[in-house]
Amino acid sequence: MKFATRLIHGSHAVDPATGALSIPVYQTSTFAQQSVDHFGRYDYARSGNPTREALEEAVADLEGGSRAFAFGSGMAAISSTLMLFAPGDHLVVCEDVYGGAFRVMTRLFGQWGLEVTFVDATSLAAIEGAIRPETRAIYLESPSNPLLKITDLQGAAEIARRRGLLTLVDSTFMTPYLQRPLELGCDIVLHSGTKFLNGHSDVVCGFAVVKDEELGRRIGFVQNAFGAILGPQDCWLTLRGLRTLKIRMEESQRSAIRVAAWLDAHPRVTRVYYPGLESHPGHAVHASQASGPGAVLSFELESYEVTKRLLEGVDLAAFAVSLGGVESILSYPAKMSHAAMPPSERASRGISDTLVRLSVGLEDVDDLIDDLARLIGG
Ligand SMILES: *Cc1c(COP(=O)(O)O)cnc(C)c1O
Repeated sequence: MKFATRLIHGSHAVDPATGALSIPVYQTSTFAQQSVDHFGRYDYARSGNPTREALEEAVADLEGGSRAFAFGSGMAAISSTLMLFAPGDHLVVCEDVYGGAFRVMTRLFGQWGLEVTFVDATSLAAIEGAIRPETRAIYLESPSNPLLKITDLQGAAEIARRRGLLTLVDSTFMTPYLQRPLELGCDIVLHSGTKFLNGHSDVVCGFAVVKDEELGRRIGFVQNAFGAILGPQDCWLTLRGLRTLKIRMEESQRSAIRVAAWLDAHPRVTRVYYPGLESHPGHAVHASQASGPGAVLSFELESYEVTKRLLEGVDLAAFAVSLGGVESILSYPAKMSHAAMPPSERASRGISDTLVRLSVGLEDVDDLIDDLARLIGG
């Protein structure tokens, strides 16, 4: 079955117990047992819940994995996965990693003795050069946030395999519709399902997905032990959002391509970061590993004054944290997604005070461009 068909008719399509076309919300914390010797499939809902399982199976299938794990947020998925590592272990991490991931690695896991080195992951040589004897994994985002830098995922996974390391990829911007890192040889795919996977700006959730069964068993152990699970109501909403993933991504991406071209030609826009533009340095690598450039782009405006006017005056995009909703969302990385990063770190990564990130939603693209033109200038 092709992707769109799997979204509709995958294992999560029908409730096995009743035939309901919508998996029920199993709003329960525990399950009655029949036998002292053999517990049923479900015992306690932290360990397993049928609604969550349906969602996890759906996401595993879409990523080409064997197991997926649903967590209470993208950060819970990332943090739980980092529990695979131990004090003294070292990770090589892409430098413009999501601000929350930067924070949890440097402030919390750092406290427990996990070491990280941030590198410009557009260069495989830089990744390889940062590997030490204690290195256990390479942690990547491609496209990265907010500068949409591209890493050769297959190349990075090959380096990791040769050195006995795991490759972790936060693939939130792409979703499995556009990019499937497990098929490129990566080991763990992470998602903030809050964004495109759920897609309606009404749930905070996250996923870790793996192909390798032993790795699945280890993350399953962490999920149950650490307990940062997603509740059944949010699982149901995410299952519902997921069904329209393809048409939402297609439409938002089509509009994003138009908006990016319009911004790119605009005299007050000094730079556009979008892998769909041929001028993007990662354009060819991205095209070789993903089936489209996605619906998130960032751009640099000529002055702080224009930046502020745009963020405060925009009508057809919400000025907000987040991305991947049905509504366009304009955000300001310096004070939102990357506020957790010290100003000097931000500056060295190119996250300036005139950088704006746009997640293109499902509005008519002409209206969206008119709204941007009204504030940036025609
Ligand atoms: C939003 C986001 C996260 C964090 O996810 P939450 O669901 O907000 O916890 C992680 N990575 C990326 C790329 C994101 O955009």
